[in-house]
Amino acid sequence: MGTRIFILYTGGTIGMAPSDPANPNSPLEPKDWSYLQQFMPSIRENGYFSKTRGIEFTYHSLDLILDSSQFNTEHWITMAGIIRNNYDDYDGFIIIHGTDTMAYTASALSFMLLGLSKPIVLTGSQLPIFHPRTDAVTNLGNAIHIAGHKAFDMPVLPEVSICFEDRVYRGNRTIKFSTNDFKGFASPNYPPLVELEESIRFFPQLYNRPAESDLQIMNSLDTRVISISLFPGMRAESISRLVGDDTKGLIIHTFGAGNVPCTPEFIRAIEEVRNNGITVMFITQCYNGSVELGKYKSSQVFRELGVVSGGDMTNEAALAKMMWVLGNFRGDEISKKLLENVVGERS
Ligand code: ASP
Repeated sequence: MGTRIFILYTGGTIGMAPSDPANPNSPLEPKDWSYLQQFMPSIRENGYFSKTRGIEFTYHSLDLILDSSQFNTEHWITMAGIIRNNYDDYDGFIIIHGTDTMAYTASALSFMLLGLSKPIVLTGSQLPIFHPRTDAVTNLGNAIHIAGHKAFDMPVLPEVSICFEDRVYRGNRTIKFSTNDFKGFASPNYPPLVELEESIRFFPQLYNRPAESDLQIMNSLDTRVISISLFPGMRAESISRLVGDDTKGLIIHTFGAGNVPCTPEFIRAIEEVRNNGITVMFITQCYNGSVELGKYKSSQVFRELGVVSGGDMTNEAALAKMMWVLGNFRGDEISKKLLENVVGERS
């Protein structure tokens, strides 16, 4: 049997065109799948991939194709449901997605779709597919190699990944790195899983192991989460003001390895939040590296208040994980799960 790839088109620059066709500088708006497909004949029936590799593509679009800045958790739940409903019938999945929130979606899906034995690869582009200098054709062509591993004799990558420019990264380790560079994504704390240059190099020793059990969907997400970035001179009462009566989780982007001003006001603010039963997790503002609570005095006091270390998780992974953990676990399980390496999101 040939290789079957399911493509889910959700929107993003990749499929956008100027809203006024006569004015190339008019704002970009998303176009439908048939528009996008015209520019990539290799994915049609009898196109290059079907003729040379026997790959069969199935396409599905979200009801509303969107700029990814418009996505919320309901869109993640819809995407997870579409993957789940088609999971048994395909060898791999490609999600075409805007770059702005791709790392958030990839992180969320990595927690929501547990027990993967097949690749789910997100891709998009910096320039729309119609543009003469587009990166879309390369990115989509590379993603086809990951999703269609069987047809290319490549090892299966059984996880949610992001394929962009010439690299494939673990989705929940990835951040959008540039609004401009074709190398739009980076994975500051985990090496690339595949490098697609003229020849393809893959590093299966870095992959998650394929699950032996069936796919399990855990798509309950609690959005009662607040995320705050510290800055020198920040007033502690800003924290109390932002945290509402119904807040369940607070993520603080701390300095360095988890450091926060140790003033009585800050300590009181965090203590109050903790006393209200809110889970607090520290992540680092640094591009690379990890939170180490207790390394300095300026984090020790917060550890004693029950703050959880986010380790080396990205902002995107920490946020998606907090929503997922609060949505699916209770009591002591919450901090235990946050500290656990669930799907390779933390070292
Ligand atoms: N605003 C676009 C989006 O995220 C950016 C892109 O796709 O590059 O949908």
